[in-house]
Amino acid sequence: MAHTDIMVLGAGVVGTSIAVHLAKRGLAVALVDRNGPGEGTSYGNAGIIEGNTIFPPAFPADWASLARIAFKRAPEANYHLSHLPRIAPWLAAFRAASRPSRLIETAELLRPLFAHAVSEHTALVAESGAARYLSRRGWLKLYRTDKAFAAQSHELELAASLGIANVALDRDGALALEPALTGVFRHAVHWTGAVSVSNPLALTGAYAERFAALGGITLAGDARTLHRANPYWRVETSAGPLDAGDVVIALGPWMADVLAPLGIKLPLVVKRGYHRHFRPEGNAALSRPVLDADNGYVMAPMEQGIRVTTGAEFADRDAAPTPVQFKRVLPAARELFALGEPVEAEPWLGARPCFPDSRPVISRVPRQRGLWLACGHGHWGLTLGPATGRLLAEMMTGATPFCDPRPYSVDRFIG
Ligand SMILES: Cc1cc2nc3c(=O)[nH]c(=O)nc-3n(C[C@H](O)[C@H](O)[C@H](O)COP(=O)(O)OP(=O)(O)OC[C@H]3O[C@@H](n4cnc5c(N)ncnc54)[C@H](O)[C@@H]3O)c2cc1C
Repeated sequence: MAHTDIMVLGAGVVGTSIAVHLAKRGLAVALVDRNGPGEGTSYGNAGIIEGNTIFPPAFPADWASLARIAFKRAPEANYHLSHLPRIAPWLAAFRAASRPSRLIETAELLRPLFAHAVSEHTALVAESGAARYLSRRGWLKLYRTDKAFAAQSHELELAASLGIANVALDRDGALALEPALTGVFRHAVHWTGAVSVSNPLALTGAYAERFAALGGITLAGDARTLHRANPYWRVETSAGPLDAGDVVIALGPWMADVLAPLGIKLPLVVKRGYHRHFRPEGNAALSRPVLDADNGYVMAPMEQGIRVTTGAEFADRDAAPTPVQFKRVLPAARELFALGEPVEAEPWLGARPCFPDSRPVISRVPRQRGLWLACGHGHWGLTLGPATGRLLAEMMTGATPFCDPRPYSVDRFIG
């Protein structure tokens, strides 16, 4: 019977970062996934390490926005009608968490993690020899209307009070940064401290190689085989059964597949999202990711082409893809930038794992000896992976955590 100190289940950017941090602290660690590192949700994101993020996504505050979503006219959101009854309690909790006072509270509770997001990636990237995947040109949010720009004035005020760097630009100022954009927008904000990644899969792969160099072991296995084999936790892997005293569940949107059989039920819903790469026409190029705020999509320069990512789709994680949002956003994207032919035949589909209060769970599980969780990173798993890895490793080894972990405790759901 193979034995290790700790098993990390799930080799997305979150699980891989945790594995690296634990291995650096001298522990014997096995990273278990049924696929290769970074091939899940971490493969397909917009590649933005958003240290600047302040407010979480919110339930629509006005009836007009809600009606646009309800009538499937909104580019930023889609839903499967049959799925809504199942997630109604989550939507109610999400709506409650979207009150202005709660949004400010969430922003404050998440700030310590975001404040370390870029520096923790920078450290891991340096150790992993992966600096070539990072670009330090920030990212650009574009606003086509005065109304849309005015709607985020509160965010800029809070950014100023928190000292988060940004530059408000007019059209010409933004075009000086990104000359290949057309001038269909009126305002822009350049979040200068954000970092972007040109190949998220390769980045997690580089972190996994760093883990191996530290003596960590990566194994193929199905996390759903997790069970108690007293006094250990056991998982079946392609190399046979593996026992460990501690296990970390870092399975992103697949978390419930392992927790439900253990009798642990958490309010996790997925917001599905798509991406597709396009070849730029002629010499058109982007040097940083761009959000078209009025239309709810991002264009990000990647090694594979310009990656267009969509907003949220509320649907069963495993339901067939319905990439209708592309039909809604592509005309706006083509108006803004010279997108050529698509690179792939079909869009990629992923699932953001989201709790209704927009906070991840980075926590020990009460009454389950040796069971730890790192999941629910929602829209920011790439951003927060390495900071999560450090925090959890500090908690598991009894070191002083770099920030107060209580806001991320699972006790808020199953206390
Ligand atoms: C369209 C889109 C755009 C996004 N843009 C951004 C962005 O710009 N910036 C940002 O910070 N975040 C972004 N995100 C969110 C981010 O991608 C996720 O939060 C993050 O990837 C979650 O990482 P994870 O490690 O928790 O999950 P995952 O990457 O999904 O990893 C979970 C792992 O568990 C494995 N697994 C599942 N079931 C089993 C099993 N039974 N046995 C073994 N292994 C199993 C999977 O193979 C997978 O490797 C975006 C997401 C989407 C969908």
